[in-house]
Amino acid sequence: MTEQFTPGAATCPNCGAAYLKDQAWKRVCLTCYLKAKGKPAPTTRTAPAVTPIDPAMLRRLVQLCHPDRHNNSEASNTATRYLLALKAAHGPP
Ligand SMILES: [Zn+2]
Repeated sequence: MTEQFTPGAATCPNCGAAYLKDQAWKRVCLTCYLKAKGKPAPTTRTAPAVTPIDPAMLRRLVQLCHPDRHNNSEASNTATRYLLALKAAHGPP
């Protein structure tokens, strides 16, 4: 049996959710598939590991990028703003 298969959006017959049927064997959405297999639904994706920036290095980068050292150039202002935002996001060490 050679059934022509075209990948595309499909509707899950179990829960009615839209899912991407990119393989001929995918008959239900991922959530229903995992439920049928007795596995937890992928409600929380595994966040990529973010290595916290070393505060000392951040301080050094701010010093190196500071507009005072670069004739107040647009690039240094942008870089410094970014680094200071990072610093603020990380909070006090
Ligand atoms: Zn479903």
